[in-house]
Amino acid sequence: MQIVLANPRGFCAGVRMAIDVVDQVLDIVGDGETIYVYHEIVHNKHVVDRFVDRGVVFVDDLDEVPHGSIVVFSAHGVSPAIRAQADSRGLRSIDATCPLVTKVHSRAIRYAKQGYQILLVGHKDHQEIIGTFGEAPEQTQVVECVDCIPHLRIDDPDKLVYLTQTTLSVDDANVIISALKAAFPNIKEPPSEDICYATTNRQSAVRQIAPLCDLVIVVGSRNSSNSVRLTEIAENSGTRGVRIDDVSELDPSWYPTGNERILLTAGASAPEDLVSTICRHFVERHGATLHLADVYEETVEFGLPLTLKKLMEEHDIDHRDRRVRVEPPVITQGEYGSVAVALTISTGGNA
Ligand code: SF4
Repeated sequence: MQIVLANPRGFCAGVRMAIDVVDQVLDIVGDGETIYVYHEIVHNKHVVDRFVDRGVVFVDDLDEVPHGSIVVFSAHGVSPAIRAQADSRGLRSIDATCPLVTKVHSRAIRYAKQGYQILLVGHKDHQEIIGTFGEAPEQTQVVECVDCIPHLRIDDPDKLVYLTQTTLSVDDANVIISALKAAFPNIKEPPSEDICYATTNRQSAVRQIAPLCDLVIVVGSRNSSNSVRLTEIAENSGTRGVRIDDVSELDPSWYPTGNERILLTAGASAPEDLVSTICRHFVERHGATLHLADVYEETVEFGLPLTLKKLMEEHDIDHRDRRVRVEPPVITQGEYGSVAVALTISTGGNA
């Protein structure tokens, strides 16, 4: 059996930043105060459970947060109405919204001010879309599929713009965008792609490597949009794709001969230790060899959110030179069960 590890996989800079924010706030307040997080900080069961074990309380309604408490907004962003609600309840808001989500919010605000109707391509129940929609609810409609397009209420087809959720399937989004352009030839395009570098790179790696494999295993939670999209991309490329939260969900019927080549990847919110545990399982139980497929090198890094910097300053913590960057994991025998042999896939790069 061969396990091919896709690079990049797992944590993106936005998820890393959101987790670091909660870690940092926990360090600052210690055991003396409960930290609240509005919605899951990132869409991963293990990340959330680990914070719950450390005393963090996750809420879906700010009314559950006591007056004056610290509340962290998740990586997916929130609407202005939620920020206002937090202020009116006297909460101390720390914003862990991914800067690439904030960029889409800024575009929505700008186009709304210019009088555009906004067609927001994405999943209407996803936290990110709820937040972006909330920037200009009177002027925004969510487009989930091509069949939705005839039902849109359009005031002026020459004053339309589309924006997209950051974690969509690039392929699916392109189908909807092409249909929007066909229906409204003068629709304005955003100046650059809203689907983020991490989504694009992880999807592209699967698209390139999956056809060389018998099975694609995606580590990620069921509510992680980008993890679900990775399994769909595997299936679209003709290779079975399965999504699992962790090693306990592996099903041996997926690899009946024991000689399969399996691509192992992870959604942007899945911690790497879940991947290394699965590798160890395959090495120890199935004598698997590990192979590393480096497709893209990612160099994106973010600064800390201003609201966190302010809290750090109040506690005399120096935040200068603090940046958030995700380094590619190092495959060690101890953690992964074996070292990995390079399997080089050459492509153009992205970010
Ligand atoms: S998937 Fe993209 S938009 Fe979402 S948190 Fe990561 S970098 Fe930000």
